[in-house]
Amino acid sequence: MNVSTQMITTADIIKQARPAYAAILDFYSRVIAAQEKNRERISIPPIQIDPDLLSVRKKNEMPLIDPSEFRIDRDAAVALFIEICNLAEDWAPHLAEDAAVMKTALQDGRIDLDALFSALLDSRFEPLEEMARAVCVSAEHLSMITYLSMAPGIETAAQQLSGHLEPQSGLKNGYCPVCGNAPNMGFLDDTGSRHLICCFCYHTWQVQRMGCAFCGNLDMENQGYFFSEQEREYRVSWCDHCHNYIKVVDLRHLSRDFFPKLEMAATLHLDMQAKEKGYKGHVLPT
Ligand SMILES: [Zn+2]
Ligand SMILES: [Zn+2]
Repeated sequence: MNVSTQMITTADIIKQARPAYAAILDFYSRVIAAQEKNRERISIPPIQIDPDLLSVRKKNEMPLIDPSEFRIDRDAAVALFIEICNLAEDWAPHLAEDAAVMKTALQDGRIDLDALFSALLDSRFEPLEEMARAVCVSAEHLSMITYLSMAPGIETAAQQLSGHLEPQSGLKNGYCPVCGNAPNMGFLDDTGSRHLICCFCYHTWQVQRMGCAFCGNLDMENQGYFFSEQEREYRVSWCDHCHNYIKVVDLRHLSRDFFPKLEMAATLHLDMQAKEKGYKGHVLPT
């Protein structure tokens, strides 16, 4: 079974358990499959880091690069942008109208994807908001589809860069050792070791088992987690010191294949619960 088929099968298993997520999973499983296929055509030279700078960054446990240093394979990302718009038209009713407008606006030049790619890499949201206003689409939708179309390139570059990391690099850090962004999901492996997944480049790194994933708070009175008996595979860890939360998948209780992006899409109810309790999480850039 190839990865895409395995993922669609896993999405079906989640849908049976939680039918409310059927539409979301129908869309996202196809987007993730399109991203996987898109990765095969990506051609970007590895990001070069000056050796002296690299050793300073490693010595000080700084991220290897700033997100603005990621490079995008433009042709691959543009093709994926159009494909995701098509998928949204077919599978995501709440996005369909904006997706159709974005596709037309890309073709007639009113959407400049190069400018959007740079804006997202630099965390400059004004150009994105201006462009969204000009073509009358939601800035959130434009940002989401732009990010999804860049993501395979970012992940490829992060994988290349991760070769520079020492084993167990970032063990004490609540930020990505590759790009410095926050994690948006964690998981406990078969041995109970804790790993975090970057919200931006999807690099996965191991962290120490105890303490807040974000601020390292070790005071057990100020942190904890909640879970539901019906979903023993998930827990939501929260911290009253930094007021962040993170969804954690316990692989020891997961009886299906683990595709983090699918689990993220199928656990929005946990984000809602955590936010209702006053905690903030880290999601894809919007
Ligand atoms: Zn990262
Ligand atoms: Zn904390």
